[in-house]
Amino acid sequence: MKAESMLVTFWGTRGSISTPGPHTEKYGGNTACVSVRQGPTILVFDAGTGIRELGLHLMREYGRTGAPLEVHLLLSHTHWDHIQGLPFFSPAYLPDTKLNIYGSPKKGRFLSAVLERQMDTQYFPVSMREWKSHIAIREIKNDRIDINGIHIVSEEQHYHPGGSIRFRVTSGHAKVVYASDVELDAFMTSGPPDANQALPAHADAYKAFIQDADLLIGDGQYTTEEYMRYAGWGHTSAPVLAKTALSCGVKRLAIFHHDPQHSDRYLDRMVHRLGVEYAEKAPSGSLFLAREGMTLAIG
Ligand SMILES: [Zn+2]
Ligand SMILES: [Zn+2]
Repeated sequence: MKAESMLVTFWGTRGSISTPGPHTEKYGGNTACVSVRQGPTILVFDAGTGIRELGLHLMREYGRTGAPLEVHLLLSHTHWDHIQGLPFFSPAYLPDTKLNIYGSPKKGRFLSAVLERQMDTQYFPVSMREWKSHIAIREIKNDRIDINGIHIVSEEQHYHPGGSIRFRVTSGHAKVVYASDVELDAFMTSGPPDANQALPAHADAYKAFIQDADLLIGDGQYTTEEYMRYAGWGHTSAPVLAKTALSCGVKRLAIFHHDPQHSDRYLDRMVHRLGVEYAEKAPSGSLFLAREGMTLAIG
């Protein structure tokens, strides 16, 4: 029997800091948060400010059905734009919610301590102890997780300050990859492979991870010119992301983690040519900008 489609919804698409206002209405101003749902299973990638709206949406569902919520929250890393919405995630305050949080331990500071510190009274009025839900925090590096028949593989990414994790979700034949906050331009070199032996290995690992994905949600924060200025900050230029995705047979590429300085008009101009090229070279594929509120059915 064919598995149900995975429904992928973007709740926050912005990188670095939330950017509300008339210039970001189309693609959204909330920071990173994407849900992947299949039947009763709810996976959430990152807890940027977009998770607040997802929480409200889930609360309405809970109000209608009364069915306890179980949420699997997978954190790519703990930079602000990926955790700042978590204190506003309403289901965490419900006693019958099960909240499973997965993320990478960093530099000896355990994930739970990082999240708890964010809710210290110096920063936020409500302590994490006020969460009435059942919380399980699991630290992962390069792991395989099975949740109700959905397979998740995580892999560490090194080219981001402090590191980050990418995730691949497979259900039946459908494959969705979430790989934000990584600087592909730093290791996806087209030159001879002998310049730095580490680079080809990182490039091969990334390519193998995204190979033939039905949907890749990838960091494409910069233009080529911007990347020159911000090399080393841990983000990718959209053309390098597009080229890599094309070479790996990615069917749909969602450019994600939009720069806070990029208005809707700027973003439209930035990807227009890339989108045309992508469709020419991969007639059944497409490249687009991730947009807050957008839902895609995969598989
Ligand atoms: Zn980020
Ligand atoms: Zn980051």
